[in-house]
Amino acid sequence: MHKKTKLIHGGIFGDPHTGAVSTPIYQVSTYKQESVGNFKGYEYSRTGNPTRHALEELIKDLENGKAGFAFGSGMAAITAVMMLFDSGDHVVLTDDVYGGTYRVMTKVLNRMGISSTFVDTSKVENIEAAIQENTKALFIETPTNPLLKVTDIQKASLVAKKHNLLTIVDNTFSTPYWQTPINLGADIVLHSATKYIGGHSDVVAGLVVVNSEKLAEELHFVQNSTGGILGPQDSWLLMRGIKTLGLRMEATEKNTRRIVDFLESHPFVGKVYYPGLEDHPNHEVAKQQAGGFGGMVSFDIGSAEKADKLLARIKYFTLAESLGAVESLISVPARMTHASIPAERRAELGIVDGLVRISVGIEDVEDLIADLKQAIEG
Ligand SMILES: *Cc1c(COP(=O)(O)O)cnc(C)c1O
Repeated sequence: MHKKTKLIHGGIFGDPHTGAVSTPIYQVSTYKQESVGNFKGYEYSRTGNPTRHALEELIKDLENGKAGFAFGSGMAAITAVMMLFDSGDHVVLTDDVYGGTYRVMTKVLNRMGISSTFVDTSKVENIEAAIQENTKALFIETPTNPLLKVTDIQKASLVAKKHNLLTIVDNTFSTPYWQTPINLGADIVLHSATKYIGGHSDVVAGLVVVNSEKLAEELHFVQNSTGGILGPQDSWLLMRGIKTLGLRMEATEKNTRRIVDFLESHPFVGKVYYPGLEDHPNHEVAKQQAGGFGGMVSFDIGSAEKADKLLARIKYFTLAESLGAVESLISVPARMTHASIPAERRAELGIVDGLVRISVGIEDVEDLIADLKQAIEG
C-alpha cells in the first residue's frame, strides 16, 4: 500500500459493528457484560475504547509498528513513555528538544529519579560520549525546532543498540508521511498529534507507536495505570485529520520551498534555517531519511525590533505558538516558545532575538510570499 492509500485504508477501515465508513464516536465509559468477565473486547474506556482503538491501529500501521497508543497530549505521551523506566535510570536526549520535553525531564521526572543528559545528537559521536552505565534510552527529536537540526536516526539507533538502549524518536515535525523511524531502527516513535497529524489547530493529542509485543504490553500497562488517554471525540478528529495528511504535507512542502527561495534571495533576511537547503549542515541526512523537508523555516531578521515590525505588518501568518496546521503561523522563539531558556544558553544555541519561525500552511503561496515581502520591507 502506498502512503496516501494507507492514510485512508490503514488501521480498521470503517466500523466493524455497523459498517459506518467513518468510525463512530463511541462516547461511552463502560460496556455491558453478558456474565462476569464475558464482554466483547471492551470493559472500561480507560483500558480501551473502540474509537480510540481505531486511531491506535491506524497510527500503528502508518508508523510500521506493532501497537499504537493515543494520549491526551504530546506531553502525556512522552511522560507515559518515560514511565517505562525506573528510578535510577538515565536518558540521553537531543539538546534542543521541544521545551516541554526539557521541562518534564528536568523538573518532574528528575524528582522521580530519572536523570537526563542533553547533547547535540546531530553529531552522532556526542551520543556515545554521553552514555553512562545506567543509561536506558536515547531520545531523539528530528528535525528540531527552531533551528531545524537533523539527527541521523539509523546511525544513532545503531549506537543505542550497541549499548542496549531503546531508541525513542519524536517524529512530530516530519510525520509518518515523510519519515518512519521504526524502519530506520527506532523502538518507539511518538508525536504531538496536536501539530501536523491533527492539522487543523483544533485538538491537543499525543500518539506513540512501539516496535515489539513486549513494549506494547508494557506501554499499555502504563497507559491503563496512569490514565492519560485521549477521548473518543478527539480520537475521531485525529482520524479525520489523518485522511488528508498526505495532501497537506505535499502542499506544505511545495509552499515552503517557494517561501525559502524568496527568503534566501531577500537582502533584508539573514540566515535561513531549512533542512532542504543544500548548505544546511544536515541536508544529506535529511534527504536520505525523510521524503520531505517539512514546513518549518526559521530566519534571522536582524533584531527584536525588526521582528516586531514584521509581526505588526504580517496578515496571513498568525502570531501563535504551535505549528503544523492548515493556516500559516509565525512566532519569535526567543520571546515565545524558548523564553524559558536563559539568554546566554539561547545565544549559544543560535536562537537570536531576531530569529523568526514560520510554520507554512496550505494557503496560496503567492499570497504568503506577497505578505512576507510587504511585512519584511515595511
Ligand atoms: C508540541 C510538541 C510537543 C508537545 O505536545 P503537546 O501536544 O503540546 O503536549 C512535543 N514535541 C514536539 C516536537 C512538539 O512540537
